Amino acid sequence: MTQYIKIPVTVLGATGVVGQRFVRRLANHPLFIIQHLAASERSSGKRYREACAWRLDGDSYGGLADHVLVPGDPHHAMSPIVFSALDSGPASELEPLFAQAGALVFSNASAFRMTREVPLLVPEVNPDHLRLIELQRRHHGWKGAILCNPNCTATVLVMALAPLHQAFGVEKVFMTSMQAVSGAGYPGVSSLDILGNVVPFIRNEEEKVEEEIPKMLGRFAPDGVELAAVAVSALCHRVPVIDGHTEAVSVKLKGDPTPEQVREVLRAWKPEPQALALPSAPPVPIRLHEAEDRPQVRRDVEMDGGMSVHVGRIRACPLLGIKFTLLGHNTERGAAGGSILNAELAHAKGLL
Ligand code: NAP
Repeated sequence: MTQYIKIPVTVLGATGVVGQRFVRRLANHPLFIIQHLAASERSSGKRYREACAWRLDGDSYGGLADHVLVPGDPHHAMSPIVFSALDSGPASELEPLFAQAGALVFSNASAFRMTREVPLLVPEVNPDHLRLIELQRRHHGWKGAILCNPNCTATVLVMALAPLHQAFGVEKVFMTSMQAVSGAGYPGVSSLDILGNVVPFIRNEEEKVEEEIPKMLGRFAPDGVELAAVAVSALCHRVPVIDGHTEAVSVKLKGDPTPEQVREVLRAWKPEPQALALPSAPPVPIRLHEAEDRPQVRRDVEMDGGMSVHVGRIRACPLLGIKFTLLGHNTERGAAGGSILNAELAHAKGLL
C-alpha cells in the first residue's frame, strides 16, 4: 500500500486573524501538516492557548492549544513550506530569510506583491505566473521563493474579471467596496468607530487594488509580467460586517457584450484548480445568483468554505456597459484559503 507523507509547514503570525484561519484549515489538510507556529517576540515561548484568544468556530486552536510558539526566523521555524500571516513590516524582513534558507513562502503581506520577480498568484486567474520563481531564484540565488496573495479586495475582484478578460478583454473597472472589519486584523477598528457607521477610508487599500489588478491580469514573460492595459478606479469603505467584502462593480468590456453573454462566460468558466481538483478549490469558482437581492454577505459568504466568489445583479451600466454585485470572503479566499490553494497548485506542478 502506498504511504503518503504530509509536508511539514510553518505558520508565521499564527496568533492573528489570518493566522488562526491558517491553523484551522491546516488542522486536517490532506497534503500539509503543521510543524511550527510562530508570531512576535511577545508570543514566543508561550503555548498557543496562552499567546492568543481563539476567535473561530470549530476545534479551538486547531487541536494545537499546547503547541509552544517559536521565534519567527529560519533558525527556529524552518519548514519546506512557510505560510506567512505577518504584517508587512516584519514580513519584509523575515520572508526573504526563509526563501534564502530554501522554503517556499506563501505570503499574505503586501511587502513583495509588486516586486517584479514575485508571482501575485490566484490559481484560477494566473497559474502560469508561478514560473516567475525561476526568475526570482536566478535574481537572488535563493533555493526557495516568495509567492504572494493579492490584497483581499483585489482577490475577490480579479476572480470575476479574469474570465471576462479572457473572453472579451477588460478595458476599465470602477469598483466601490464595502469591507468587513476582520480585514483590519485584531483588534482592528474600534467598535465606537464602526458600529452604526461607514468609514470611507482604508489606508493604501485603493492604491493596492488599482496596481495589483493589472499585474494579475498581465501576461507572463520570462523577465517579469507584462501589465494588462486595464484602468482601475477603486473606492474602498469599511462597514460593520465581520467577514466578507461586497463590491459594486462597473466594467467596460471590449465588444460591449450583453448581460446575458457576461452571465454565460462567468457560468462556463472552468479554470485549472477545478480541473486539477486541488483540495481547497471550490467546486465552482464563481457562484452566480439570480435573485434580485443577492449575493448578501450574511447569507452567502461562508458557502464553499469561503473559497468561491459570488456574482449577482448582472445588468447594463449606462456608464461603462456592464455592472454587477460581487462578494467574497476576505480572510478565506482573500487570505488563508487563497494562500493554501497557492501551495496546493505549487505541489501539483511539482515544485515541492
Ligand atoms: P493581525 O491579526 O494583526 O495579526 C498579525 C500577526 O503578526 C500576529 O500573529 C502577530 O503576532 C504577528 N506579528 C506582529 N509583529 C510581528 C513581528 N515583529 N514578528 C513576528 N510576528 C509579528 O493581522 P491579520 O489581519 O491576520 O493580517 C496578517 C497579514 O495578512 C497582514 O499582512 C495583512 O495585510 C494580510 N491580510 C489580511 C487580510 C484580512 O482580511 N485580515 C486579508 C488579506 C491579507 P503577536 O500576536 O505575537 O503580536
